[in-house]
Amino acid sequence: MAGLDYDKLLERGYSQIPEKTTAVERFEMPVIDSIIEGNKTIIRNFEFIAGRLRRDPKALAKFFTKELAVPASLDGPRFVLSARFTDRVLAERLKLFVDLYVLCKECKKPDTKIQESPAGGKMLVCEACGARAPVKG
Ligand SMILES: [Zn+2]
Repeated sequence: MAGLDYDKLLERGYSQIPEKTTAVERFEMPVIDSIIEGNKTIIRNFEFIAGRLRRDPKALAKFFTKELAVPASLDGPRFVLSARFTDRVLAERLKLFVDLYVLCKECKKPDTKIQESPAGGKMLVCEACGARAPVKG
């Protein structure tokens, strides 16, 4: 039966795929540790999060300030926002930052850096696959 041969071929094809192409490395999103004090929200592990993403805490602070549209300031390892935000809102903004400025557009790995583009503007450069993509800001 021709069908059997075809199945056998498929089976062989699958078995020849190297293991590493099927094992997708999953990026682990850092979890925000925040507390609310009066009318302020304090992200206590802000510096740690920026470090995990390999980004300058100032760049991450600037993004949060713009996205949440409230005055905010870095205070040592902490980030203080002048309004109340839930963990969920903060986590959503962090995810957005990671999607825009950390994960490679091609291979989705977090092994990237931001570089000045010779043409002006900034580029997200991937150290894993070499992809480059322009980024805002
Ligand atoms: Zn890549």
